[in-house]
Amino acid sequence: MLLSNWNNYPSVEARVLEPHGPEEAARLLHHEPHLIARGMGRCYGDASLAPVVCSTLGLDKFLTFDEQSGVLHCEAGVTLDRIIEVFLPRGWFPSVVPGTRQVTVGGAIASDIHGKNHHLEGTFCRHLRELTLLLPDGTLCTCSPQHDAELFWATCGGMGLTGLILSAAFPLQRVPSAFVEETTLRVPNLTAMMEAFEEHHNTPFSVAWIDCLAKGTSLGRGLVYLGRFARREELPRKLDPSDEGHGRGLNLPFTVPSFTLNPLTISAFNGLLYHKTPSRPHPSFTGFNPYFFPLDWLDNWNRLYGKRGFVQYQFVLPREQSQTGLHAILSTIASQGRASFLAILKLFGPPGPEAAAPLGFPREGYTLALDFPLAPGVLPFLEVLDGLVLRHQGRHYLTKDARMSRETFAAGYERAGAFLALKRRLDPHGRCSSLQSRRLGLG
Ligand SMILES: Cc1cc2nc3c(=O)[nH]c(=O)nc-3n(C[C@H](O)[C@H](O)[C@H](O)COP(=O)(O)OP(=O)(O)OC[C@H]3O[C@@H](n4cnc5c(N)ncnc54)[C@H](O)[C@@H]3O)c2cc1C
Repeated sequence: MLLSNWNNYPSVEARVLEPHGPEEAARLLHHEPHLIARGMGRCYGDASLAPVVCSTLGLDKFLTFDEQSGVLHCEAGVTLDRIIEVFLPRGWFPSVVPGTRQVTVGGAIASDIHGKNHHLEGTFCRHLRELTLLLPDGTLCTCSPQHDAELFWATCGGMGLTGLILSAAFPLQRVPSAFVEETTLRVPNLTAMMEAFEEHHNTPFSVAWIDCLAKGTSLGRGLVYLGRFARREELPRKLDPSDEGHGRGLNLPFTVPSFTLNPLTISAFNGLLYHKTPSRPHPSFTGFNPYFFPLDWLDNWNRLYGKRGFVQYQFVLPREQSQTGLHAILSTIASQGRASFLAILKLFGPPGPEAAAPLGFPREGYTLALDFPLAPGVLPFLEVLDGLVLRHQGRHYLTKDARMSRETFAAGYERAGAFLALKRRLDPHGRCSSLQSRRLGLG
């Protein structure tokens, strides 16, 4: 079948195999000379694409749950969607969630995902207790930060290249309700935006939308969304505190023409969104779905970009370089009229144990994620942005990458050599490889 990930670029003719248990997965790994693991295909690019793909969606069992500690042990194909559905009504929620609930536990580990609370809670793998992995040679191995730590951290953010994650154990956190108290701050420019993040660095969740077509003194204007889980007693009577389904959405049934999102429509949308937000913030209660997963309300929103698809471009800059770097990058985007429909800024906090992951993406500073439709000229334009990111000592997020060069990758990931050395020992024939790993020289 013709397979692509969330951004519909690139596509590959692939054979998709779906084992329904560890033994079947081991047999498959033994018989296929090359393959890559794939969860929900929510990465933006070619990290889980290859001519042979091992779908983990059949590894979907909950194994154990400890009501005292909140530690959940489950198979790697279980989705965060399912975890939330089952555990939120009991008062538990994952410690770290990305902007969609449609990802698997294996995908969350292999990309070492971050959420709106990175500044306080770090990445998904900071909370991971242990994982079970089928190595490329078929050996079964359980590792943790204490046991076989090198393999453990190489697998966290390792993009499926150290083997097939079969299961994992991690604690869920207790939450008081299914609602978030949200406060939206309207900020007039980049300096004010960064000041807002710094001022609210103790707020559990924060994320910002930037109007990336705004120029001059309005460069970097946008909205900062602050949040914390609401206590039951704070909620108005009409809200059911554990209403898991609150704010779930619609389905876009077909792909729309690729001109739907263009600089004109995006500029109109941005202006409306910015100006309709009151300049004086006042907190309100919102369901956790619209707060954490605002894009999930429209299933298949990726179809808005048309058949050609789009690329997502996410990078992080160290804190001391963030202001000048973001200014340079946003100015370049605005001056070229290269509208990104989504431009999402987050603050990454200080490094934790997950900094041991050689391919881990986060570093203390600011991360910006942008979406660009695959229009003519967009790929060379992104190379210009690459130069700016590297000049400001940044790096790009592998799970959002479909086009980076080997040189750009090597310049951003200074410990890629250590990863590669381990990979060569574990997998000398490159059994676990993807289009991305081949492109980036990762085996
Ligand atoms: C709307 C949207 C919002 C997002 N927001 C965020 C965000 O806020 N923060 C963030 O960090 N990410 C975000 N992402 C990206 C997403 O969280 C990651 O790409 C995640 O890895 C996708 O999980 P998946 O199950 O779909 O994995 P896939 O996309 O199928 O695979 C991703 C990688 O994981 C590997 N992999 C998957 N399963 C296994 C396994 N069992 N064993 C070994 N390797 C495996 C694959 O080989 C591949 O390298 C977002 C994506 C979307 C679509």
